[in-house]
Amino acid sequence: MSGSQTPIRALLIEDNPGDARLIREMLRDAGVGHVAVELAHADRLALGLALLTNQVTDVVLLDLSLPDSHGFDTFSAVHTHVPDVAIVVLSGLDDEALAVRAVQEGAQDYLVKGQVDGAAILRSMRYAIERQRLESARRDLERQRDEFFASVSHDLRTPVAAIKAAIGVVLANMPPAMSPPLLRLLGNIDLAADELTSLIEDLLEMARLQSGRVELWRSSVDLRDVIARAARAVEPLIQARGQHLLFSPPSEPVIASVDAERLGRVLRNLLGNAQKYGPEHGTILVAVERSATEVCIAVSDDGPGILPEDQERIFERFFRVSGSGSSGSGLGLAIARALVELHGGRVWVDSTPGHGSTFRVALPVE
Ligand code: ADP
Repeated sequence: MSGSQTPIRALLIEDNPGDARLIREMLRDAGVGHVAVELAHADRLALGLALLTNQVTDVVLLDLSLPDSHGFDTFSAVHTHVPDVAIVVLSGLDDEALAVRAVQEGAQDYLVKGQVDGAAILRSMRYAIERQRLESARRDLERQRDEFFASVSHDLRTPVAAIKAAIGVVLANMPPAMSPPLLRLLGNIDLAADELTSLIEDLLEMARLQSGRVELWRSSVDLRDVIARAARAVEPLIQARGQHLLFSPPSEPVIASVDAERLGRVLRNLLGNAQKYGPEHGTILVAVERSATEVCIAVSDDGPGILPEDQERIFERFFRVSGSGSSGSGLGLAIARALVELHGGRVWVDSTPGHGSTFRVALPVE
């Protein structure tokens, strides 16, 4: 915390000597009896960046038009150079819009020159520093959490694969006289290993998406095939609950440039959810809707539906509607949305509680 004893280490990047002197004097007067400001000064961007490299700085007071840089580029250069240092933009009346844009892009505040006194500048700087610290701490926390998930998931892969392999060997070499309850237990172990595997895969995929490490392998494919493959993957589960999946593919090929594996994953999640949350003996409907610019894949179920206030939240990581049952990580839809957005598309749900849900994936087509 910048308490009253700790001086604020500020860097003023401003080429107008008159403005620079005025700000220095205002800050000196305002700081008396409150908080001291150690003010360094640069009259060019290059010098400012050099100072930021060589000395610890809490906050930058930044004029956007300098001899060696202009406008928004000035802000970008400083922000990229020191992303964790608070920036307060100094603007003139005529470039206030630019300052507002800088705030939208990560500057903590802006001040219009000639309209502020020392106390206002000081207040703005202190506020900017505190906010920047909070934001950086939160970012660190998120990064740590993501790294933790990624490394735990990775470490879990090997033992789960060993369990899966071992139970496979046991099931293949079972004595003929094995009692049915024991057989069921072994089957449960096998299923649980499959669930764990898919949970770990979800965690790893989420970690890859979070860190921007997912690259799409696009090719021109017929979406009818991608849908049919995803449907086949969930078919056994659908049959086990006496449900029906209806898909009448369009008669013409539906060609789109997509990562077929990733889109398949999205569709398996939507079909899997329709199967999981839909009733026994219910119906799951898949439809392809085309417009000039988009192709839309719709997956409808006759399940419980989703309350309006949850319809966006279900796409958040780990969000699950309470009472949704125990099997599920709450990651599937978050992954689906991230993958669809990587394709330049959208995914959303239309639902009336009590009357089922329709999830739609819209993808751009040429
Ligand atoms: P998971 O199914 O693993 O919980 P998802 O991200 O796939 O995770 O879904 C998040 C939540 O959205 C689910 O827990 C469930 O509450 C709700 N949901 C998803 N699909 C449906 C559906 N077809 N019908 C009703 N609720 C659904």
